[in-house]
Amino acid sequence: MDSLLKHMVDMTGHRDHAMLDLSAVAAVQELAGAQHTRVLSLAAVGPARYLRARASVDDGGAPRLEDEAGPGETLEAYPELAACLAAQGARAEAEQAGRHTMWVPIWRGELAATILEIARAAPFTAAEIHTIDGIVGVYRNFRNLLEYSERDSLTGLLNRKTFDDQLARMLQCAAEQESPLPGQPERRQKGTGHEQWLAVVDVDHFKLVNDRFGHLYGDEVLILIANMLQSSFRAHDRVFRFGGEEFVVLLRSTTLENARRIIERFRAGVENHHFPQVGTVTVSVGFTCIKPYDSPVVTLGHADQALYFAKTHGRNQVCHYDQLVADGLLATVASNDTAEFF
Ligand code: GH3
Ligand code: MG
Ligand code: MG
Repeated sequence: MDSLLKHMVDMTGHRDHAMLDLSAVAAVQELAGAQHTRVLSLAAVGPARYLRARASVDDGGAPRLEDEAGPGETLEAYPELAACLAAQGARAEAEQAGRHTMWVPIWRGELAATILEIARAAPFTAAEIHTIDGIVGVYRNFRNLLEYSERDSLTGLLNRKTFDDQLARMLQCAAEQESPLPGQPERRQKGTGHEQWLAVVDVDHFKLVNDRFGHLYGDEVLILIANMLQSSFRAHDRVFRFGGEEFVVLLRSTTLENARRIIERFRAGVENHHFPQVGTVTVSVGFTCIKPYDSPVVTLGHADQALYFAKTHGRNQVCHYDQLVADGLLATVASNDTAEFF
């Protein structure tokens, strides 16, 4: 019981998903007497579904985070789990060459984006399944709580509080891809022009929407724009509501041409959308390349300057900070002056 309590305290002491995953695999591994435990992400890529390890622990080893390249293994390689997911079941089991494996999907409504995998030599007893169910319950509730604290309640987008963390994570991933550990293959060729980008999106004349149609219709517009943002960008990009009618997008590893095309497509999508009752709404966007040595405040300041340029030159357009500077349309601001923007 002491051990169980220790694990519960450990699992609920984190404010970070990765640390929670590590604690969960450690708890299940010890309390279910497992040889191998993993936390898997289930993600859809087009019609196919892929499993990818986020954290794992082996017999006698320390729990570790996984960062595999590529989409992962297809769900088809796990027929028992696939059948369990299709039936929205509580758990799946399989036995192969004396190894017993159990998968427990972490259901959230009708979706299970996280799965716990537990493997051992002996079959699982009723008491062990009971313990696993208890740990999974705490893990699920705490994961939901963490997620809730990271999201904006109106739109469901990430909130500003999580921005610095997400930006640091994105820059770290990008740095690892550029210079892999010794002995590991390089995941992507250097010099392909892939960079990280930050875009600030602001709804044009949004005050007028509220004034003419009321706050409830204003909120509806924000929710629709948030949905359009989510579907315009890729799964590994990150979309935040920064407050009011302002949104920030982090675009991972893409070329300037692609970043501009994706943002422009979103802008045009908003312009061409018919918002119920309200009609046409437009957005202005400022974006910039994220330079790893610039602080988040400096990078945001640059995107904000480009946004301001868009606002003062007709709105409903996308402006690129580095291009404006190169064209002599914007003066660069020394880093220590940028703080004035916020
Ligand atoms: P601009 O094109 O220059 O951006 O003009 P604007 O009217 O969009 O800009 P301004 O910053 O003057 O107004 C923003 C408005 O957004 C004011 C505020 O009432 C409204 N707003 C902020 N948060 C919310 C919200 O959560 N819901 C609704 N409905 N309105 C909000
Ligand atoms: Mg506005
Ligand atoms: Mg604004």
